[in-house]
Amino acid sequence: MSRLPANTPLAELDWANRPRLTSLARLGITTTGDLIRHFPRRYEDRRKFDQFPSEPTEQALCLFGTVEKTTYRRFGPRRIFEARIVDEAAGVLSTPLTCRWFNMPWIKNLILGGDRIVIFGKPRLRGQSLVMEHPEFETIEDDAERLLHFDRITPIHPAGDGVTTRGLRVLINRALEESDPPLLLWPDASVPENVWRNVHFPESEQEQREASSALIREEFFCVQLVVCSRHAAAARSPGTPRLGTGALWNRVAQSLPFSLTPSQEKVMGEISTDLAAPRRMNRLLQGDVGSGKTLVALRAMLEVAESGWQAALMAPTQILAEQHYLNFRRLLDPLGISVSLRTSARQEGGDAPQLIVGTHALLFEGTAFDRLGLVVIDEQHKFGVVQRSRLIARGDAPDVLVMTATPIPRTITQTLYGDLDVSFLREKPAARGVVVTAVRSSKKLPDILAFLRKEFAEGRQAYIVYSLVEESDKLIAKAATVEFEKWRGLLPQFTVGLIHGRLAADEKESVMRDFRDGKIDALVATTVIEVGVDVPNATIMLIENAGRFGLSQTHQLRGRIGRGTSKSYCILLDDDPSPSAAQKLAVLEKTSDGFEIAEADLQLRGPGDLLGTAQTGLPPLQLGDLLRDGELMTEARHVAMAIFEKDPTLSHSRNHALAAFVNSPRWATSPLDG
Ligand code: ADP
Ligand code: MG
Repeated sequence: MSRLPANTPLAELDWANRPRLTSLARLGITTTGDLIRHFPRRYEDRRKFDQFPSEPTEQALCLFGTVEKTTYRRFGPRRIFEARIVDEAAGVLSTPLTCRWFNMPWIKNLILGGDRIVIFGKPRLRGQSLVMEHPEFETIEDDAERLLHFDRITPIHPAGDGVTTRGLRVLINRALEESDPPLLLWPDASVPENVWRNVHFPESEQEQREASSALIREEFFCVQLVVCSRHAAAARSPGTPRLGTGALWNRVAQSLPFSLTPSQEKVMGEISTDLAAPRRMNRLLQGDVGSGKTLVALRAMLEVAESGWQAALMAPTQILAEQHYLNFRRLLDPLGISVSLRTSARQEGGDAPQLIVGTHALLFEGTAFDRLGLVVIDEQHKFGVVQRSRLIARGDAPDVLVMTATPIPRTITQTLYGDLDVSFLREKPAARGVVVTAVRSSKKLPDILAFLRKEFAEGRQAYIVYSLVEESDKLIAKAATVEFEKWRGLLPQFTVGLIHGRLAADEKESVMRDFRDGKIDALVATTVIEVGVDVPNATIMLIENAGRFGLSQTHQLRGRIGRGTSKSYCILLDDDPSPSAAQKLAVLEKTSDGFEIAEADLQLRGPGDLLGTAQTGLPPLQLGDLLRDGELMTEARHVAMAIFEKDPTLSHSRNHALAAFVNSPRWATSPLDG
């Protein structure tokens, strides 16, 4: 029998009737290739089953037994079907297990007395007896295909209305036998033979693991082909050379009371080269909190201004935009460079400035971008992906510099920002005081107060951050106000300030100004001060209910201190941290390396939560898991990059299959399009 071509439409075959085809289509299966790519969500080793339980377990058990008896009854509005399963192997001595289904009357037609059955679920104690509620199950029939379902490592595929896992197994087996498998793009020969069969019907656990790894790597490779092709296309896409003289920057640099770090010098060089090149810059700058990203951005903006273009800096909060604006004005006013501020609350400066600083309101107001040459996006992780692309889409193909202080674990950078060139600020300015971090309970409050008084007396300042997560802005503001009164009472000889998101823009600004000018000793704040705020004389960060914050977020908050030369203190207050909160606090006590913290955060929370809004840019993965399979992503990236290095347009004949894949319409609306 000749084999069917790969991806033969099922509608052309007589394998399934119409209703079944419809059910399959609902699972996204319309061809033989779709069947083969419909991966098991787990496996049951039906060569050896678990023992029938004598007590509840937290782990799901896979049991094999015989249905002794079934009952179906109504109990008020509920309809309850029960099957008593006995362990055949253990005979009459074993205690039968009750399986129970509520309001699923059709189950009674699927499970009959005398059936041999495999069940999968967690036994729970209900009254005196052990019960499995709504277990997965499959009855075993002595049909010709028994060996597909039983006495083997059995795949459990995601099933649906009108198609059971058992039915899928039969269809997938048939597709494997009669149809050519989908094409694999992974270029070298290290893919195990029979990889598709082995992922569905492995003979051993090792076979299954090897097949899964090879296919995960394949999946990642496909992602990387798309990401790297974007990168290669960006590298070809024409842009305007923006050649500054460096004269303006030199004058700014001379006015700085410090010299640049080697990292800053290096990254500034990379950016200047990008700006001068006749192609568009697409660069991500990663640097831990306090590593000095703002000056890197400023230099780039000045070079763009020198070449006759405008440069915009977008900040995620109004406080941060104001701070950048004041900072730039201080450095640039003496040089006669015009800077404007654009936030929804406040507009300042002329209409056609050389430099513009603003919040995302920039996106929505018709600001004068006649000649936008550079967009710098500060604290990228706070922006939605859509906002980023909207800003970048306007103007005349501006160069783009994306900056983030949330160190992003490498596998995620490779995926989410794989189309950008990446620069790192690896070290922080040398003249920084150490930051000591300590976890304390509120029993220590008297000691903490004594410490604060001593530090304030020496002229230092503190942030006191209050957390109230998952509450409305209004409630947070209210709680912060209560806190503010409390701290005023505790520190009567000192000046306590308050800042939160509900304050009017000018109030926020004047509080921040007073804090910056040293007129406020302790600033009670919500997380509005989380990113970017730079007050070097503030050396204490007290965080209440610290366990409630995410790891990376606390690291950001802690980044507000340790900015001057004096020793700084981060006090994490938590009276009764949950085990996971205690784990987070321990990480923070141990390390202040942002990348280490990001990796720990990824382990604790998974990639979705970690990235917040940015996660919408992650491609949907069928098999792979960025957390578990990071190594395979790295391997796939290296291989894909090597291919594009040799053949940036994939025009060699040996790369035709790759080109066809990358150019296929499915990527036109891919979630990779941030
Ligand atoms: P971040 O990378 O978190 O955005 P900033 O750009 O806000 O950091 O810089 C933090 C502080 O360090 C600022 O006060 C800035 O003036 C200062 N700074 C920047 N570069 C240096 C340097 N090379 N040496 C000393 N201080 C520096
Ligand atoms: Mg910053």
